[in-house]
Amino acid sequence: MIVTIDGTSASGKSTTAKEVARKLGFVYIDTGAMYRAVALYCIENRINIHDRKAVADVSRKINIRFIRQLTDWLDENRIFLNGREVTNLIRTEEVGSVASTVATYKDVRSNLVEKQRKMGRKENVICEGRDIGTVVFEDADVKIYMDADIIERARRRQRELERTADLQSVIESLKKRDEQDKMRVESPLKIPEDAVIIDTTHLSIEEEVEKVIEVIREHDRQSSSFIND
Ligand code: C5P
Repeated sequence: MIVTIDGTSASGKSTTAKEVARKLGFVYIDTGAMYRAVALYCIENRINIHDRKAVADVSRKINIRFIRQLTDWLDENRIFLNGREVTNLIRTEEVGSVASTVATYKDVRSNLVEKQRKMGRKENVICEGRDIGTVVFEDADVKIYMDADIIERARRRQRELERTADLQSVIESLKKRDEQDKMRVESPLKIPEDAVIIDTTHLSIEEEVEKVIEVIREHDRQSSSFIND
């Protein structure tokens, strides 16, 4: 089964997808981390991010690996770029903003989409990003779209950044990112036609997880009654 979650930045996609994957034993694919890895590589190696060809070369050549670390007290998705762990390094606002720029390039997208599709050939998968239900896995079994009020999203992002940025600047940066993601020509962020929309403004993480699991179970019930008919 393939489950996709698309939506705006800080709407709760990653946290929810990760927890749903843990509860249902699915493989979790965080595609945003892949765009962030390309961005980090460009920043660290002083590659001009406006040079589309150079950035596309990076997206083709770099090796991105996810390793899930699961112990009694920890369930962490660790990300490796060319063998080096970059799990925390890719989480800054600077990397997020460069990721959003390089994600507008057609060749970068096609290189990363190819890697994502390969990862999705495995067992049960929950994949999260901006174009997953519309492009990467158009035939997915279950599609979800998440969104929330901008102020609530900014508060969440601010907590993630451990309050090192003021609320107003986080709001501005999210607005900019929303616009860039929705207005770009290549695979813009939009609601997949057959998606279930979840507004997470007033939901706790537990409630978000519950809702997604409910949608997956409902799909399961319908497809098995279909087969029985
Ligand atoms: O989800 P996250 O904030 O980590 O993604 C970083 C950026 O990567 C997004 O703002 C978006 O521009 C880009 N992205 C994308 N397509 C995806 C996932 C992320 O364009 N499937």
